[in-house]
Amino acid sequence: MEKNLQARLAERQRQSRYRQRRLISSAQGPEIRVGGKLLLQFCSNDYLGHAAHPALAEAMCAATASHGVGSGASHLVCGHSDLHHQLELRLAELTGRDRALLFSTGYMANLGIIAALLGRGDQVLEDRLNHASLLDGGLLSGARFQRFRHNDLADLESRLAALPDKGERLVVVDAVYSMDGDQAPLVELAETSARHSAWLMADDAHGFGVLGAHGGGSAQHFQLGQQELPILMGTLGKAVGSFGAFVAGSETLIESLIQFARPYIYTTAMPAAVAAATLASLDLMASESWRRERLHRLIQSFRERADAAGLPLMPSVSPIQPLLVGDEDLAMSISAALEERGVLISAIRPPTVPPGSSRLRLTLTAAHSDSQVDRLLDTLVEVFRRVAPELLFRQSSSD
Ligand code: PMP
Repeated sequence: MEKNLQARLAERQRQSRYRQRRLISSAQGPEIRVGGKLLLQFCSNDYLGHAAHPALAEAMCAATASHGVGSGASHLVCGHSDLHHQLELRLAELTGRDRALLFSTGYMANLGIIAALLGRGDQVLEDRLNHASLLDGGLLSGARFQRFRHNDLADLESRLAALPDKGERLVVVDAVYSMDGDQAPLVELAETSARHSAWLMADDAHGFGVLGAHGGGSAQHFQLGQQELPILMGTLGKAVGSFGAFVAGSETLIESLIQFARPYIYTTAMPAAVAAATLASLDLMASESWRRERLHRLIQSFRERADAAGLPLMPSVSPIQPLLVGDEDLAMSISAALEERGVLISAIRPPTVPPGSSRLRLTLTAAHSDSQVDRLLDTLVEVFRRVAPELLFRQSSSD
């Protein structure tokens, strides 16, 4: 085993795909301390700037005093507190669903949902660019697993039309793609799925809190109810700024997950204090719509200015604004040159993205100031001119 692992590690290194962690010694925010150095960061998913907000911290401290740190057990044993319960009610209300169910992480939610609903003899169809946890859930379920071309309704339609007339059918997509930032055409996907008697599941990890009139996410944005989008999954560690995940849907769906979703049943409940911090975050989302508005203004102005400067934007309307580089080593060099100048943006390489599409995954948040975004653009232009001038004005930013 040891020898084999060492060989695999060496191979990773040889491919320049070795991943390394950074040591962060500050709270989340536009500026973070990395290895003792303060960097301006554009790589977190804290889209609303809630992760270090005092309202969340105070709620968490108060609930730690009343409920302790550990939840002690799984939800089904004795870990399900009144705070978890309140949070589930709030999430159901915000998403306009019968019920919501908390999971300890989004990864576990996706594994749990798909594997609980499908088995041998069933069919799962997933967008090619779905998050790893959705793909893993599809494989784990034992259902026949197919991937359709990204956001390609015609490809999905023809695959659905060719399915045998037995077993359940589930279409699974990201509502906002985590490495591209583009949206799924959820209205059309709902129609296509319904026409072929398939249920639709959307992972709204990157839309929840950001999209929709009240931050209720992609379903609220597209006004898709439970009927059209029966399985809505969202995470709490991104725009919401806390930790964990949820699924929202019908009474039958939620009861089935409580009974059959193994990553729900066999894991410790998130701490009650995390649920309390999440409730405080939902209060902020309701009372401070300026954060969503500011974020959308920043996205628009960033795109206009980046486009004018010739930066290789991708067609994204979300806070995820990747810059397409292509070559893995070049993406790493650009990221390193940015970091030398005090700007942190991580390079994303295969296998996370398809070969030849390495990129800088840049994310904007409501907490970034105008002058920080000015500095971002100035530094990007300087670095691209110096390290990769051939990429400037190469891509069109069509959206
Ligand atoms: N789905 C998507 C689209 C994600 O981006 C992520 C997080 N990277 C997850 C699921 C997993 O969520 P969590 O971090 O809560 O496990």
